[in-house]
This record gives sequence, C-alpha cells and structure tokens, in this order.
Amino acid sequence: MKLHEYQAKELLRSLGAVVPRGGVAYKASEVADAVAAVPGPLWVVKAQIHAGGRGKGAFLEGARTGSGGVAVVKSAAEAEAAARAMLGSRLATIQTGPEGQRVSRVWIEEGSSIEREMYLSLLLDRVRARTVIVAAAEGGMGIEELAAKSPEKILRIVLDPAVGWSPWIGRRMAERLGLEGAQVRDFSRLLKSLVEGFEAWDASMIEINPLAIVKGGAVMALDAKIQIDDSALFRRPELAALEDPGESAPEEREAQEHDLSYVKLDGDIGCMVNGAGLAMATMDMISLSGGSPANFLDVGGGADAEKVEAAFRIILRDSAVKAVLVNIFGGIMRCDVIAEGVVRAARGLGLQVPLVVRLEGTRVAEGRAILEQSGLEVVAARDLADAASAVVAAARGARGR
Ligand code: GDP
Ligand code: MN
Repeated sequence: MKLHEYQAKELLRSLGAVVPRGGVAYKASEVADAVAAVPGPLWVVKAQIHAGGRGKGAFLEGARTGSGGVAVVKSAAEAEAAARAMLGSRLATIQTGPEGQRVSRVWIEEGSSIEREMYLSLLLDRVRARTVIVAAAEGGMGIEELAAKSPEKILRIVLDPAVGWSPWIGRRMAERLGLEGAQVRDFSRLLKSLVEGFEAWDASMIEINPLAIVKGGAVMALDAKIQIDDSALFRRPELAALEDPGESAPEEREAQEHDLSYVKLDGDIGCMVNGAGLAMATMDMISLSGGSPANFLDVGGGADAEKVEAAFRIILRDSAVKAVLVNIFGGIMRCDVIAEGVVRAARGLGLQVPLVVRLEGTRVAEGRAILEQSGLEVVAARDLADAASAVVAAARGARGR
C-alpha cells in the first residue's frame, strides 16, 4: 500500500525527522487555511497522487503551474491559486501513464532554499532477504538518469538483521555523500529513524528524494514516499486507515474487496485462473500462442461462486478484453462452483466476447454440464495448449470484426 507524501512526512516527523511544516486540503474551501498555516516567504504546493515524477509532470486540464505537480511560489495568493487549480485536475507523470491521475488532495508546505539535493531510500532486497539503504550524492529529479548513466554513483549498504542499526552506518553513508560537521550528525539521526520506521511500519520502501541541504545547512526531507507491505496491514491498523482508495483503479479496488489477486496488463485476453503458478503458466501459454494477456487474475484456492462471479465481472468490464480464457484446475476448488459463477456473471453482464474454458479436476463433468446447459457460447478446450491457441484465435477474430 502506498502512502501520500503528506502522510509519509507526518510519519517521519513522528520519529523526529526534519520535514517541512504544512497542511493538506481536499477541497477549494480548505485551501486558504492550509496556506495560512505556512508562514512564508516561500510556499510549495504539491499535488498528492500515488506516483512520482510530479515535478516534471504536466496537468492535462485546468492547472497551468508551469512546474507540474510541484509549484514553488512567493506569495499566499499564488499558493492559493495553484492549490485550487490543481484540485480536481489530472496530472500526468512518467509514472501515471498518459491518462494521468486526478488530484484530490494537495499539500501546502513551507518552501526551502535548496543548496544541494541528495537521494536516500530504504528498500527490501528480496533476493538477499535484507533491508538495503540506497543513497546518492546527486539526487532530485535526475535520479533515474544518474542510475542509468552512472550506476557507480549509487551507494548501497545492506543491513544485517542480526546487528540492525549501528552508528558507523550513518557515518559511513554521510561521508560518502560528502557531508560535513553537524550534517553528519543530522543525517545519521535521520537515517536511524528511517531504519526504525522501516521496521515499525512494515515498510517495503521509504524514499526521500530529494533529501536536501537547505540554506543554513540543515538536512531536510523535502519529499517522502512510503510503501507498506500489504501482507502486514492486518497488524498495522493505524497505517491501513491511511489508505486512499481513490488512488487505485476501480477494478483493483473491487478485486481487493473480494480478496482476488488481480493485476491489469496491456494485452487483450482476459484470464481467470486459480493459483498463481497456473496463472503464470497460462500467461506463458498465451504468449507462446502469439497472444497477450489483459490481466493476471488468481481467484485462489477456495473461491465460491460469488467470488468467481466478481472475478469474471472485473474481466468483462475491461474494454480491452477481446476474449476470455477460464483455466481452472479443480483440486480443492470444485469445477461446478466455477462454472456456476461464470454463468451467473456472464448472464448478468451479457457476454459480448468469446469465452474459452478449460476445466479439469474435481466434479469436472458437473461443471461442463452447467456450462453446456447454460446456453452460453462456450468453447470447451481439451488441455492448456488447446485452450491457449483457441483463445488467441478467438481474440484475433474478435479484433478483426
Ligand atoms: P516528485 O517530482 O514527485 O519527486 O516531487 P518532489 O517533491 O521531489 O519535488 C520535485 C522538485 O521540486 C524537487 O526535486 C525540488 O527540486 C523541488 N522542490 C520541492 N520542494 C521545494 C522547496 O521547498 N523549495 C524549492 N526551491 N524547490 C523545491
Ligand atoms: Mn521526489
């Protein structure tokens, strides 16, 4: 789960980190108060969306800030105007795709004179099964370019879970970032807080970019991105409460509600499969047959007809889907339950695209019978290879129409 920048900054502040003060506004009527809470003389108005690259982004309508989703302005009036224009407009960045993301919250904070921008993040390295601290002396909006062109400038320290934090980590990293004097102490304090927060919040990522040295020498987190491990949200209710459902695609929200693993992809064959392994094998088979999956959808092991119906509804609602493949191996799952859910959803929504079904396993005969008697036009496949080539051909046919 991703947090908004302002939520991340509040969490950082709770650990004693130095972050700019500010306020959040959800609607135009709240803008004036949020602006008034910032003393000036510099205001930064920042669109809150779950995507990076806001500074280099552009609004698709409405707001014309000239600086994307981050406007640095010199008066309260300008701050108000920028915040009002951002609210409700769509901001497109390299991470949102061309359709952009609608801004429904803005964060207005005190501006700083930046002397230097650095990069700092904590990540979970799943291969090493360790937390890794990543930093660079040259941060800010050019970090992707730096990583691509001069990867040797990206510094890494892997945390040993048996040891955890020790002060040398802060000193070593600070030195490699070229910090001096009080900055070494300030940086070390911040990094120590981040390491603590990473564990206490079950974070999978914390990113501070830029970590700035501001006029006067202070080390300050000017941007903050935090991601919480979804699997840990059950034990972090105070973090789970920070979720902004408006930031996820409607299909993803519905999938979440029904406890389905759903990932939208850019092909045109909708897939409903049980088990992540089978889902991946199915996507491979589709690719091998020359097609391209529109999604990854795993209904899991113990789905009931209702869950299957929800899954099927999500697939059918996607206008990119030109054909659907249902590939189910009934182990714990019963094939007749699957068939029932598919028929219910297809009837409810009206099946407009070809449907290929491959069922195998427990109560397969009953499942096939339900599909046959439903009156739906279903292509029954013998095996996975047959199913994949049938659905690819069907999608091609549908596209040609
Ligand atoms: P991102 O593009 O989504 O990562 O948004 P950031 O919060 O990182 O803001 C983008 C850029 O805006 C930063 O790299 C800074 O250069 C600039 N910026 C952010 N806050 C301030 C500020 O207080 N003062 C100044 N002068 N620039 C700022
Ligand atoms: Mn940033």
